[in-house]
Amino acid sequence: MIKADFIVIGAGIAGASVAYELSKHGKVIVLERESQPGYHTTGRSAAVLETTYGQGDPAIYALTKTSSIFLENPPSGFTDAKLLNWRGKLYIAPKDDRDKVIDRYEKLIKITDDVKLVNREEIRNIVPIINDNYSDLGLYLENELADIDVHALHEGYMKGAKSRGAEFITNAEVLKISKTNVGWCLETNAGDYFAPIIVNATGSWVDEIAKMAGVKEIGIRPQRRTMVVVDAPEGILDIDKWPMVVELVDTFYFKSDAGKIIISPCDTSLSEPCDAQPEEIDVAYAAHYFHECTDIEIRKVEQKWAGLRNGTKDKYPALGFAPDADGFFWLAGQEGIGIMTSPAMSRIAASIIMGEEIPKDIRDVGIDLSIIDVKRFF
Ligand SMILES: Cc1cc2nc3c(=O)[nH]c(=O)nc-3n(C[C@H](O)[C@H](O)[C@H](O)COP(=O)(O)OP(=O)(O)OC[C@H]3O[C@@H](n4cnc5c(N)ncnc54)[C@H](O)[C@@H]3O)c2cc1C
Repeated sequence: MIKADFIVIGAGIAGASVAYELSKHGKVIVLERESQPGYHTTGRSAAVLETTYGQGDPAIYALTKTSSIFLENPPSGFTDAKLLNWRGKLYIAPKDDRDKVIDRYEKLIKITDDVKLVNREEIRNIVPIINDNYSDLGLYLENELADIDVHALHEGYMKGAKSRGAEFITNAEVLKISKTNVGWCLETNAGDYFAPIIVNATGSWVDEIAKMAGVKEIGIRPQRRTMVVVDAPEGILDIDKWPMVVELVDTFYFKSDAGKIIISPCDTSLSEPCDAQPEEIDVAYAAHYFHECTDIEIRKVEQKWAGLRNGTKDKYPALGFAPDADGFFWLAGQEGIGIMTSPAMSRIAASIIMGEEIPKDIRDVGIDLSIIDVKRFF
């Protein structure tokens, strides 16, 4: 039996980031079922940070704001890559939704100066492929959204944790969990492990791990989301300078990426935890929405994938010690914000695990921890 102070189950962004923080305090072992950490949701995201995600919801704002400071200036030696590349965000909406655009503007202007109403001509100046008939009025936030280098962030967390002695064991599926009066024994297909504290960072599988440990489940809801990559239209230049284009009520979005265009139909089909694959209907929806706002016919899909966004009933993340089992820590329910909030979430998680106060910079932005506390499900 191999022993550690902390065992983290799952080596996606949640597991890697909390391992990084916990490795400052003791021996960490991360157990990952796949051969490749980040194989599931972490490797399948849209890779963006939005500072106004949740339209000013104070809890989400506190998490994204403090995380963006880490991502902008990671600790020395964390990575050589630039983790954030800022670009704008353009909301478009069908003509009938003019009132909704104005409503959203009134909400956003309360939380940022970086939002302006844009008319049809301005929309076309910003992203020339939007057709004249689609949108009369939109919203442009010039500096509100950044692409995240997810690979570099994930690697930075793992490399940093390993440099402090953490071990990442891949091909190590946790198959059985039992409790003793001093901690948790975990049987995997790569040997047996023991720690007084275990962290459940298994994304779509968090309830399965809870069930295995005899802990009450929180009702996680994995929802499939599809991404489709197509070639950029011929003759259109500088597409990588475009903002991300988002339909106002989240019907679809698209963004340029290394000369291609990535489109998501924002599908939310409930799924079992699994290796999610794109369904043809959702790929067709992506093509349909893109055509509707640009008149551009998609003839060939270059690449497609799907991932599971794992939400709780109230859509907030769930973190904290399970009230019904000593030493069982939840780090779950990050839905569509798990990458952009990982620096703050992992620091909050580690401080709770260590029985310390939440870091001052996170407290100063103002966060009501009860909103993300897993105890609300008990
Ligand atoms: C299409 C899409 C777009 C998104 N866009 C964004 C975005 O732009 N910005 C953003 O911040 N977030 C985004 N998200 C959300 C973000 O990707 C997730 O919140 C985040 O990746 C969740 O990370 P995780 O570590 O919790 O889960 P995962 O990455 O799924 O990691 C969980 C790990 O646990 C492992 N595991 C499960 N069971 C076991 C077991 N029994 N034993 C051992 N290991 C196990 C799995 O193999 C897996 O590697 C998006 C998600 C999707 C699907």
